[in-house]
Amino acid sequence: MFNYKCIISNLLEENIYILFDENKDAIIIDPGLGFQLIDDFINNNHLNPIAVLATHAHIDHIASAEKCQSSYSIPIYMCKEDFLLIENYEKLAGFWKVEAKKPKITNWIDKNETEIQINNFKFRCFFNPGHSPGCMSFEIDGIIFCGDLIFKGSIGRTDLPASNPLDMEKSLESFVNSFDKNSILCTGHGEQTSIAQELKTNPYLMKYAK
Ligand SMILES: [Zn+2]
Ligand SMILES: [Zn+2]
Repeated sequence: MFNYKCIISNLLEENIYILFDENKDAIIIDPGLGFQLIDDFINNNHLNPIAVLATHAHIDHIASAEKCQSSYSIPIYMCKEDFLLIENYEKLAGFWKVEAKKPKITNWIDKNETEIQINNFKFRCFFNPGHSPGCMSFEIDGIIFCGDLIFKGSIGRTDLPASNPLDMEKSLESFVNSFDKNSILCTGHGEQTSIAQELKTNPYLMKYAK
């Protein structure tokens, strides 16, 4: 069993999630800008960070990744299809006026990989490109960390330089039909929701309700 905490980042109100289990091992999902917020939570709860997991390479989701990596000496996991965004990290950071060093991705996840295990955390990986080429969701115990794939009432943008609207359509359809409908969605921005609720109320997803 694990618990998780959502911390809202200083950049674009991105959701940083910290998962932790009874051993106090902690996984940081999408460490956006605001390392201090992360570090305070880790210290106040005597947690032991073991990895960073990123749903995709957009700067609002990884602005603190390098800081987490260097402070805690931990690996960073991310889908390999986003390597070009990482190669252009400095340029993108400059665009957002974010002073954040480029993270070194130690564990590239292949798009066909379906599972990763980090200590006691076993995640099901789901490759859902479109918003960026390497978008990936991570499911654990009925909770899905879906990054910028789906938001409450909306979906991730597909007008960005590396986006692909057609891939997004395919990803959304297969995503909502690949998990239990009661699965909780911990989204990259905004409030959490569930697949069932979005199939009922989200104008971008209602057409996929079966
Ligand atoms: Zn994004
Ligand atoms: Zn985002």
